[in-house]
Amino acid sequence: MRVIHIAVDLTEASRCLIHATVQLPVNPDCVAIFTTPVWIQEIHSASGPVAGIAGLRFSSNSGESLRWRRNPLNASEYHVDVPENADTVIAAFDAIITWKDVAKIAIQASVTVPSTWGVATALENLGTPVTSSDGETKTLRYRPTNVQRLEDSPILTGRHFRRFPITADGRHILCVTVDTAGYTDVPQETLEKLSRLVAQTWAAFGPRHYDSFFFLLALSKHHGFFGGFEHHDSFEASLPLNGLSDASVLDQYGALVAHEFIHSWCGKFRRPAGHVPRDFATPLDGSMLWVYEGLSSYYEGIISVRSGLMSPRTYRKTLARKTAWIDGQTGRLWRSLEDTGTGASLSRSRSWANWSRINQDYYYEGILLWLDVDTLIRTKTDGKRSLDDFTRAFFGQGKDTGPEVVPYTLEDIVASLNKVAADDWWAFLDKKVLGPSPYVNLTGIERAGYRFFYTKGPVIGQDTDAGTREAVWNSIGIKVGDNGELEDVRRGGPADNAKLAPRQSVIRVAGSPFTPEELASEIVSKRQDLDTPMRLTMRQEDDEWEVAIDYHGGLRYPQIEHQEGMTDMLSAILATERAQPTVQGSSR
Ligand SMILES: [Zn+2]
Repeated sequence: MRVIHIAVDLTEASRCLIHATVQLPVNPDCVAIFTTPVWIQEIHSASGPVAGIAGLRFSSNSGESLRWRRNPLNASEYHVDVPENADTVIAAFDAIITWKDVAKIAIQASVTVPSTWGVATALENLGTPVTSSDGETKTLRYRPTNVQRLEDSPILTGRHFRRFPITADGRHILCVTVDTAGYTDVPQETLEKLSRLVAQTWAAFGPRHYDSFFFLLALSKHHGFFGGFEHHDSFEASLPLNGLSDASVLDQYGALVAHEFIHSWCGKFRRPAGHVPRDFATPLDGSMLWVYEGLSSYYEGIISVRSGLMSPRTYRKTLARKTAWIDGQTGRLWRSLEDTGTGASLSRSRSWANWSRINQDYYYEGILLWLDVDTLIRTKTDGKRSLDDFTRAFFGQGKDTGPEVVPYTLEDIVASLNKVAADDWWAFLDKKVLGPSPYVNLTGIERAGYRFFYTKGPVIGQDTDAGTREAVWNSIGIKVGDNGELEDVRRGGPADNAKLAPRQSVIRVAGSPFTPEELASEIVSKRQDLDTPMRLTMRQEDDEWEVAIDYHGGLRYPQIEHQEGMTDMLSAILATERAQPTVQGSSR
C-alpha cells in the first residue's frame, strides 16, 4: 500500500516556524498537482493556509530538485513536473499543506518536539517516542490515517503540560498547556464539573460518536484571543491562564468548553450535507449554520448550567447581552438568518457591520431561535417533551459509534421535529429562518415566562468598560474606539439620524476632549435635559464639524427578568437532565 508520510518538526515552534516534510506517492512522467486546503469546516470560510507557506521545495525520491509553478487561476495549487524515474515527490516547507483527491491514501504522520515537552492528540500513537542521540528532541509517530482525520486532529504540545482523566472510564482526557510555569494544576472541582459536562451532554445528545475524546486546552497570560475549534474526537481551545482554576473565570468561559464538546455531535457526527468537506477545495454550503452553530450555541449555556460550569445568573445575564446584540443587528431587515450562514465566507469588514449583518448572527440569533423551538415543544406537549428529545434522537442515532459522519438536510430536521411535537415546522422555519424579519425573536424568552428590556443603570457585572461601550451602542448607536474613531453606526439609530458614519472620529464631547467616560457621562446627563441635544465635534481627515444628537434615553443596559405569575420554563430548561441515554449496540 502506498502511504503519504508527513513529518512535522516543532522544535522551532516558539519562533513560529513549523518545518514539515511530506513524501507523496506519484506516477512517473506526469504533472502532479498539489493543492493546499482552501475551505476549513470549523471556520466556515475559504480561509486556508496557503499564504502562510514559506520555503517550499519539491524534490524527487532520487534527490533531484523539481521545479514548481503556481496555477495562475488558483493560488492554492502547485504544479510539479515529475521525471520518468520518480515515483515519489518530497515537499519540504514551513507550515501545513494537504492535497486534493487523497481521501483513499493513508497518511502516516510524525512530530518532533523538544524532549521535555508534553504532546497530546486524538491520533493513535505508533510505538513509543524516539529520543534523538543528543537527547534534545523526541519524535512521536502516529498510526496511518486518512486526510480528513488528520486535518481534524490537532496536536497540543508545550513545555508546561499536564494530562488529567475526566471520566473514570478513561475515555475523556483533559490536556493542558500553559505559558506560565506553575499553572498546570487543575482543581478537582473543575474536573468534576467537566465530568458532569460529559454526562449532561450524553443525556441531552444521546450516545457518543468517538472512542476517546481529548479536551486540548491552552491557558495563556499573554495572548488575548480566547476561543476554540471543534473536532470529532477532540477540540482545541484557549482560555485565560486561570480559566480552569478560578471558579469565577470558569463561570465566564465554561460555555466555550461546552460548545466545542457539543460539536462532536452537532457539527461533526451530524453535519449539514453541504458542510461535509470533500477535498478542502470545494466550497462549503453554510446555509444550515443556524443548526450547526445555532443549536450548539443554544445548548452551550444550558448544558454549562446543568453541569455546574456556569451559574444560572450568569446564564440569564449572558442571554440578555446576546439578545441586545442581536437587537443591534439591523441587517435582519434585508438579510435572513439562513443567509448569515450562506454568506458566512464574505469578508467581515466592521464598517456598517450591523447593517451588512456580517457578524455571523447564526450564533446568537440561533440561541433565540432554538429557545423558541424548545419552549414551543414544551408548551405543545404540556411539558412532557422538550428539545432534548429531538437532540437525543437526531444526534444520538440510537447507539454509540466511532467517529462517523451522518449528513442531514432541512427535510430531516423538520421530520425529526415533527416526531417530537407535530407542528407546521416548515411555516415556522420559513418565517424565522429563511426570510428577513424586522423584529428580534423574543418569542422563546417570553414563552419561557421572562421579559427582555433595557435599564438605565448597570447591574452587577455591567459596570465595566465593555459594559459601558455596549450601553453606548444600545443608546445613541455607535461603537467607538478608545481614540474616538467610530467602528460601526447603528442603522436607524440616533447617531445614524445625525449622519455619523464609520471612520469618522469623535474629538470633543460638549467641548471637552473625547474620552469614552466623557461620552458616557454626557449621554447620562442629557436624560435630565430634554431641551438640549448632545453636541459632538467630529473629524474625518481634514474636516471638522459639530453634530447635535437629540437623544435623551440615557445609557441602556439589557436585562431579562421573570414575569410574575408566569410559569418559569427557563428554570425547567436549565435543570439537570436526569434521563440517561439509551445506549445500544457495540461500543467501539
Ligand atoms: Zn461552534
